[in-house]
Amino acid sequence: MERTFAHIETKLVHAGEPHPRLLGAVAMPIFQTAMFETRSDGDAGYHDLRYIRLNNVPNHTVLGAKLAALENAEAAIVTASGMAAITTALLTVLKNGDHLLIQDCTYGGTHSFVAHEFARYGISYDIIDGADPDSWKAKLRSTTRAIYVEAIANPVMSVSDLAAAVDFAKQHGLVSMIDNTFASPMNFRPAEWGFDLSLHSCTKYMNGHNDLVAGAVIGRADLVEQVRLNLNHLGGSLDPHACYLLHRGVKTLALRVRHQNVSALAIARFLDEHPAVASVNYPGLIGNEHHARAAEFFDGFGGMLSFHMEGGARAADRLLERVDLPVVAPSLGGVDSLMTIPAKTSHRLLSPEERARIGISDGLVRMSVGIEATEDLIDDLKRALEA
Ligand code: PLP
Repeated sequence: MERTFAHIETKLVHAGEPHPRLLGAVAMPIFQTAMFETRSDGDAGYHDLRYIRLNNVPNHTVLGAKLAALENAEAAIVTASGMAAITTALLTVLKNGDHLLIQDCTYGGTHSFVAHEFARYGISYDIIDGADPDSWKAKLRSTTRAIYVEAIANPVMSVSDLAAAVDFAKQHGLVSMIDNTFASPMNFRPAEWGFDLSLHSCTKYMNGHNDLVAGAVIGRADLVEQVRLNLNHLGGSLDPHACYLLHRGVKTLALRVRHQNVSALAIARFLDEHPAVASVNYPGLIGNEHHARAAEFFDGFGGMLSFHMEGGARAADRLLERVDLPVVAPSLGGVDSLMTIPAKTSHRLLSPEERARIGISDGLVRMSVGIEATEDLIDDLKRALEA
């Protein structure tokens, strides 16, 4: 019988684990075998056949059960990257002739896939203002099949009206999809709010150690099964060894994200008061324009923040030269703090006008707060800002 657990901390450790344990193994063994033996009568049947690309070796199924439990969802599947999860899910939900409503300011890879590849599949889209649900109906078409939002959008940490997205989807018979990477299941569990599919770059908080690339699709069992069949064709399967690392990393999600929530809020408050900083984007700050929505939806405000330097691009460059603890690198969600200048990295392909429209100045610095002592990070920032 499948065991169920009341609290997310216990689910992280025990949900989905083989019961009884495989040969008593406390840690999930790695089934590093491309294929599994079939019976000699050849009667295994396609769906019984275990093969890494078919996403059904024990490392996949155990991890899928754990991730589904974390978001109180029906099912989950892991994928080779966050982009494999996003592209496979979109191509499963949408077909030739369909239309998508997608929030402005999504992850660059998602935006680029929708903007540059959709036309080749005969799929169209419209961009919506995630914070203004009243404006969505005007963009609805008879062919609209899905609405796509992000829990917290990079790099200005905006929060869409997530509850309105679910209501809108239900009202108009759409599939509701959310990229929940920035919030992680610690801060937001989309299925509890009625989302059909939650997508993750597990490269980030889920694994949390900046040492692998992986993704996940979590949600309604019928849709996850369709994604699985499509993933079998498209081939974005996660290798068992990477499954093992993700499985090991995710067990400490609660410890990491709780610390990161508290630490990022303290750092945001420090930066907000500092004269070298013009303004801070962090939904946990009371004065932030997204604070009310974030407080309604999230259990914590996350470990990501960004801030505009008073001295613009030059001051941002100098800050990154002077900080010692945060590593200057893109990506996010791991134990090591990271810093980057979005105008030069994640959003460099946007025109200066497009960047200005979504609030990305050349002096905007993004920080992914790790699990170092908050005081040490603040001391380091203080020294670098005042140098
Ligand atoms: N979604 C978000 C919000 C991201 O930040 C990223 C990567 O930065 C992705 C998806 C893509 O994930 P991956 O790099 O694992 O393919």
